[in-house]
Amino acid sequence: MNLTDSATLLPLLTAGGYVILLASLLIRRRPGEPAQWLARFLTVSILWQLALLPSTLRDLVPSLPLFLLLVGTLMLGMTTAVYIDWSYRRQWFYLAGLTILLPFAIDLISPAFALEIPEQLIVQPTVGGALTPIVWLILSGLLLATASRYYQVHRMPWHANRLLYWAVALLTTFSGELILFFDHSGLQLAGQIIRLAGAAGLTYGVYSHRIFDVRSRLRVGAGAALITAVAAIFTTAILLPLIPFLSQLEMGRQIALLLVLTSVGFLLYQPFRQQIERVVRRFIALEQFDTGAVIRSYSQAISQTLDVEQLSLLVVGTSSEMFETNRGALILMTQVNGRYELQPIPAMGRISRQKVQFTRESLIFDTLAEQRQPLLQYEVDFNPEFQDLPAEQREWLREQEMDVFVPIQTGNELTGLIALGPKSSGTPFRPNELELALMLADQTVIALQNARLYSELGAHNEKIRLLNADLRQQNQRLEIMDKVKSDFITIASHELRTPLTQVKGYADILASMNEEAILSQEQTREIVGHISRAAGQLEHVISAMLDASQIDVNAMRLTFVDTRLDTIVRLALEPLARAIRQRRLSLTIEGVKELPTIRADFKRLVQAFNNLIGNAVKYTPDGGAITVTAAAALSDDPDTGYIEITVADTGIGIDPKYHELIFEKFFRVGDPQLHSTSGTKFKGAGPGLGLPIARGVVEAHGGRIWVESEGEDEKRLSGSKFGVILPVIPPQAKNAPALAAPPAEERPPWLIG
Ligand code: ADP
Repeated sequence: MNLTDSATLLPLLTAGGYVILLASLLIRRRPGEPAQWLARFLTVSILWQLALLPSTLRDLVPSLPLFLLLVGTLMLGMTTAVYIDWSYRRQWFYLAGLTILLPFAIDLISPAFALEIPEQLIVQPTVGGALTPIVWLILSGLLLATASRYYQVHRMPWHANRLLYWAVALLTTFSGELILFFDHSGLQLAGQIIRLAGAAGLTYGVYSHRIFDVRSRLRVGAGAALITAVAAIFTTAILLPLIPFLSQLEMGRQIALLLVLTSVGFLLYQPFRQQIERVVRRFIALEQFDTGAVIRSYSQAISQTLDVEQLSLLVVGTSSEMFETNRGALILMTQVNGRYELQPIPAMGRISRQKVQFTRESLIFDTLAEQRQPLLQYEVDFNPEFQDLPAEQREWLREQEMDVFVPIQTGNELTGLIALGPKSSGTPFRPNELELALMLADQTVIALQNARLYSELGAHNEKIRLLNADLRQQNQRLEIMDKVKSDFITIASHELRTPLTQVKGYADILASMNEEAILSQEQTREIVGHISRAAGQLEHVISAMLDASQIDVNAMRLTFVDTRLDTIVRLALEPLARAIRQRRLSLTIEGVKELPTIRADFKRLVQAFNNLIGNAVKYTPDGGAITVTAAAALSDDPDTGYIEITVADTGIGIDPKYHELIFEKFFRVGDPQLHSTSGTKFKGAGPGLGLPIARGVVEAHGGRIWVESEGEDEKRLSGSKFGVILPVIPPQAKNAPALAAPPAEERPPWLIG
């Protein structure tokens, strides 16, 4: 092997280049998936370069270099797929793999046919050999197209920049390979070098997450080239006419004249050059903003605002004008239990106001607070330092769809972030722009502090206002309860004294008639009947009081049995039936029969419904209507079902301000002095214990009771509707075995009429 021969030397040198690239990739601490595939590509490239060396192996298997080149393309495709997150990577692997094997398979099957193709082509003289360039063209074209499509659709500039960089590096690599297909030794040389350069670019792309701004580099490069070209044309134009004249002069004079002329030329060129530079800068967008003026007008504007929302609009508005972004928010940061709570105040674009909590140790605060640097979303996605960021935080940042987060900091404490979306030009933020954004953030510190204090003050005021309203309400309630207490004496003495007086009166009559011996059996029965009814009334009031006292101490003992609501309603109605008839009330009962069996304290429920229906009777004028409706809400699990029963009337109704109070003990709407005690008469009030007992019973079953009524109006008679919800199986009865239901006819002796 002749080492000085370029056909030997170059492949060896370039193979060395690939070895260096491979080594630099492997010594990296945390190789990701793209790095693994790229390492395979570089390894195949080394083999390919070695296969290009003149050797007996090459003479034996002439298609080996081409085969290795295509295997390289396959590996490069996989690297690209994982680099750009291409969803069809598996399909690529298998399809491209098969396509690569195809030409070589053809060669194996029909080698004889291969001999007919002319010898001197570098493309091997076989059918497969003729197919390989086509296969290569399709595969590399597909990869390039995919990379550039991903670049075009990506909205985030730094992310797009990374894809652009990759597409350019791919293009370089493929250009090198394309040149290699031409049978010309100069092109062969250039092809290998360009391919190596492309591979170096790819390695850099995988190795480093921080990729320079490709577009602005290209633009600056183009600008510099343009300026140089114009200067060159200018100088040449001045010197060209002098060349024939110069040659006639002797050496010393020639130099002197040239010096003078070039100096004059440069002098003349200077103002001209500035003009050119200005034009070029304008067209290639390299101009700067007047930082001072921007900051001045911004600080003036924010010094006048005390509102966080407005401040957000101002900050984002100014930034968007400068950087041409159309998305942005001010993010407030508050410390809660040693964590930072982040709350976006949207200003531009659709941004959720959802808060999130970050631990103070979170890596992103290291950049923001410690290094006082803006945080790029690109860094969060690609910098290996942020690899361990918790998924929730990563997701939240991504959902913001911002390009950069600029810290607003007081001392060492972060108080907020200015979040800016991608620039509409699609270019990434340049370092000087980030610097300017930081300056804006610094200007915002005081304004943000003021605005937050002001909004906290507002929040405190609102809290105090609500507390005051609450206090007023409580006060009203206390006043009413106070009145209820004093009314209680009146009611209780009335409720107890009336039957007691009757008992005493009839007992006296009995005694005096007995003394006078004028008492017939008939009269005795009648008087004893009166005494017994009055005593029953006394017993009823006292037992209601006892029941009510049980509710207070949660001492209501319930015995759960399987029972049916239609039985309960029937028994609750029994003592009221006569009054309903006498007062010509119409009674409708719907849906009760269809209800499932429930587990409940039978007697207590009869008591509760008797109170509810009894009230409907009492507060509905003669001829009115009472409706009891029932429905079940059952789920698949029979244990979690509910039933709902409503007792509606066309009575006088209840003022909404009493809707809660009527469930309090001894509370009655209206003046206690003006009431007539009766269980069934129109507006015949009782001791104010019926509803509290009903609520006690229903709640002891794990249910709920409430009232709906538009208001009290004896003329319109809008009526009231009491709703009761009961669980099919009360929570306390879930584990207890069900007892047998009592006989349906059993009538509770203590019913309140
Ligand atoms: P009372 O023994 O006075 O009936 P309750 O506790 O049963 O006591 O009811 C409390 C108050 O609620 C009653 O005084 C009455 O003003 C009002 N109330 C209860 N039910 C009705 C109803 N169906 N229509 C109108 N007012 C009612």
